[in-house]
Amino acid sequence: PTSKLPDVGTSIFSVMSALANEHKAINLSQGFPDFNCPDELMELVTKYMHAGFNQYAPMPGVVSLREKISIKTEKLYGYRPNPDTEITVTSGATEALYAAITAVVKPGDEVVVLEPCYDCYAPAIRLNGGIPVYVPLALPGFSVDWDLVKRNISSKTRLIIINTPHNPTGAVMTKADMDELAHIVDGSDILVISDEVYEHMVFDGFKHHSALENAILRERSFVISSFGKTYHTTGWKIGYAIAPPALTTELRKMHQFITFSTVTPLQFAIADFMDNEAHYLGLPDFYQEKRDAFCEYLAPSRFEFLPSAGTYFQLLKYDAISGEHDQDFAKRLVQEVGVAAVPVSAFYHNKTDHHYLRFCFAKSDETLCAAAEKLVKL
Ligand code: PMP
Ligand code: GLN
Repeated sequence: PTSKLPDVGTSIFSVMSALANEHKAINLSQGFPDFNCPDELMELVTKYMHAGFNQYAPMPGVVSLREKISIKTEKLYGYRPNPDTEITVTSGATEALYAAITAVVKPGDEVVVLEPCYDCYAPAIRLNGGIPVYVPLALPGFSVDWDLVKRNISSKTRLIIINTPHNPTGAVMTKADMDELAHIVDGSDILVISDEVYEHMVFDGFKHHSALENAILRERSFVISSFGKTYHTTGWKIGYAIAPPALTTELRKMHQFITFSTVTPLQFAIADFMDNEAHYLGLPDFYQEKRDAFCEYLAPSRFEFLPSAGTYFQLLKYDAISGEHDQDFAKRLVQEVGVAAVPVSAFYHNKTDHHYLRFCFAKSDETLCAAAEKLVKL
């Protein structure tokens, strides 16, 4: 049979994690914590399981969870989405992204994607007959060149996808960025997907700016987040999308036929645990400490740091160590040094290589220290 994605192989995250396991390397490639979620959250899950909450959840998500998301959103971003008409719980941010893209992209539509970018956007666009229009982020620092974005917009542009804080670069959009984007889409019929799964991982006193804070963006955006990031539970695959009622109606039409609904007892447990604001309010300091420790351990190395303003990723440039393509260098690093990282070229459609590797610092201090010990030898 002919493939619908002939040029697509296995995701770089699966490839690097498998390679790390094969070579018993320290795995700083795929983004996931090597520590557990809070005990109280796990206790709530078993409580709800034993209480019999093990059948289908309502299609848009458990009511109490949507209510808690609504309250939290107002607290953080000054806008209270209606839980009945504007919030949908999905099986991870990945499903929310797929459902949102599928809901709005028709054959021939163009979608602006800022590169490097997370790997699930372009396949979803293409499977719906859309055309990804890749706009590179500007070096150094991977900021958005909004003039370049403007120049890549045509009468066929249906959607712009942004991601802040940004995977893989750690770049964080400013309020001025959001205003620029609002200015570009204002008065057009262009929609926005704002992937904000790392909303609670922003460092050095910077603030996350959600598309929900901007009235122009709010009325045309799907804003997507993930409890996998916030609660150290990437394996639970629970996320959500906030969008105006008309867009939510369309997104739910997709959601009900992709998964129908999302795992029930975990939704109830998260809803209760969301009262614990200290957990997510503590995440910036928690992860900044890890970033700083990792960078301090690596200070004697020959790697060059790109400042990570957010996410749990740190980019390291290896020009002083090797001239290899980043895919080759990353492979050699696993095999010969025993540390796995993600080559950043994997986040470009044409595998553009700027000699950066992405390291995940959502790890225990021992793991970070052990990895750095190996990396400083290079
Ligand atoms: N978007 C970005 C930018 C991500 O980094 C991730 C997780 N790696 C996702 C979406 C997917 O999130 P989830 O695991 O909740 O599907
Ligand atoms: N989002 C994670 C990362 O960027 C990985 C998710 C996945 O493996 N699909 O590493």
